[in-house]
Amino acid sequence: MSNVPTDIEISQKAKMIPIQDIASKVGLSAENLEMYGKYKAKLSYDLLNSLEGKKEGKLILVTAINPTPAGEGKSTVTVGLGDAFQKVGYKTMIALREPSLGPTMGIKGGATGGGYAQVVPMDEINLHFTGDLHAITTANNALSALIDNHIHQGNTLSIDPRRVLWKRVVDLNDRALRNVLVGLGGPIQGVPREDGFDITVASEIMAILCLAKNLKDLKQRISNIVIGYTYEREVVKVKDLGVEGALTLLLKDALKPNLVQTLEGTPTLIHGGPFANIAHGCNSVIATKTALSLADVVVTEAGFGADLGAEKFLNIKTRITETNPSAVVVVATIRALKMHGGVKKDSLKEENIDALQTGLMNLAKHVENVQSFGIEPVVALNKFIFDTPEEVSVVKSWCENNGVRFALTEVWEKGGAGGEELVKQIIPLLKKDCSFTHTYDVSDSLQTKMEKIAKNIYGAKGVEFTSKAKKQLVECERQGYGIFPVCMAKTPVSLSDDPTKIGRPTDFVITVRELRPKVGAGFVVALTGDVMTMPGLPKQPAALKMDVDENGNAMGLF
Ligand code: ADP
Repeated sequence: MSNVPTDIEISQKAKMIPIQDIASKVGLSAENLEMYGKYKAKLSYDLLNSLEGKKEGKLILVTAINPTPAGEGKSTVTVGLGDAFQKVGYKTMIALREPSLGPTMGIKGGATGGGYAQVVPMDEINLHFTGDLHAITTANNALSALIDNHIHQGNTLSIDPRRVLWKRVVDLNDRALRNVLVGLGGPIQGVPREDGFDITVASEIMAILCLAKNLKDLKQRISNIVIGYTYEREVVKVKDLGVEGALTLLLKDALKPNLVQTLEGTPTLIHGGPFANIAHGCNSVIATKTALSLADVVVTEAGFGADLGAEKFLNIKTRITETNPSAVVVVATIRALKMHGGVKKDSLKEENIDALQTGLMNLAKHVENVQSFGIEPVVALNKFIFDTPEEVSVVKSWCENNGVRFALTEVWEKGGAGGEELVKQIIPLLKKDCSFTHTYDVSDSLQTKMEKIAKNIYGAKGVEFTSKAKKQLVECERQGYGIFPVCMAKTPVSLSDDPTKIGRPTDFVITVRELRPKVGAGFVVALTGDVMTMPGLPKQPAALKMDVDENGNAMGLF
């Protein structure tokens, strides 16, 4: 294994193509681009506006089983699958989420794929990229500053400092900031109140940027953000403060999708990056729609397993894009299946057919979940070099016996060439119409929506609400938020809200402990289990391995 080059070593050896030449593969000219160096560009508003109403290509969504903490290779397969479609002659684009520095510096790593299926320049994309996350952080925190200033300057809106819902954000895992006091130090330092930080990718501004159709929609959604309550318990929105124009202005460049390339030169849009466990988990609507207008085939991914990102992609995002995927790829790995069969983390590389067979029940549930939307799944077994032929054949046979499409996927090792089998399984689905259906109707009550997700997607017996959540449920319905989809916040490692319940748990209930209406984004977040909107760093954060040489080359980024 020591001879295997790391992701960053492979990416740094890549000979990148000037971004104008990548753009020309999907009919774009230099006029359509705003350059960020030689290999990154944003797409101009003139172009984005000109694409409205254009005939769209076919969409393929990549999801996964419940992952190990390291991830199961969704981004890797997404990139490799895009390369494989390009290789066999399709006009292809990939649409990915932007990485967050929280997991990059923490445990999970970046979000640019791996091995020979990567997007480049990987270090720049994983670090500050084109500054979108900084713009989102700044817009979020500008609103916090404007709220605190309003309270300090006489508080004409009568905002109750104890009931400000809007939190500050930073794009790092920083547990020390979960709860803070602001305005300390006497009268000229503002009005003291309790506040807290979320990670930027959990911010409502991030969700709004990803769901907005254009600048006008962005501003409209920002104006509807609920920031808190008055002393009389009336809702206060951004439009009451009158700062939606300023916040939209801060985001005017961040709303434009970023164009980069894969190692094999497939045009890739990387834009927006909400986490799938604490937010809605999909890249931006603008990037997906743009890619669909420019290419015949678009490969995109949603975060974590099909219980989280894909559920939200299909129940939240498609209500805005009005485009559903023609095929959904479920990425599975032998190591994660063995984990679901009870194998401990340090023994996952050893062959264990019994555990693998037991763990297949997790895959079965995700396959059923995709089928419940009326879409045919394709299982992509992301091959690791220590997987044995016997183990591979167990997964293949299970798929054959259950009438599920299967493809051994070796894109990490071989790039696009390793995804040809997967392409063959998907092509017939692109030619068929599917009868797409959501898990719930928007007209269902919030409680019914959560129950349908819990029962039909997670396999739970039902949902319990804490007394706090019960009160919030009544208040949300009273405020008219019952019309919104629900964005579940849940652990990614289990189908339940308890991370220790591996495999396919049964006989469990989901506990909703808090509801957070995100009126600008247009959904209600339901927090389950212990999930946090500001993660912490592990004992050995990935940051310990990172460095930079005297020529500015990044080192140790995976
Ligand atoms: P996900 O999108 O599911 O979170 P990623 O695609 O980001 O997962 O991959 C996580 C890590 O695993 C990356 O560092 C990647 O290089 C590595 N990886 C993915 N697939 C393989 C594979 N087949 N063999 C070895 N490493 C892999």
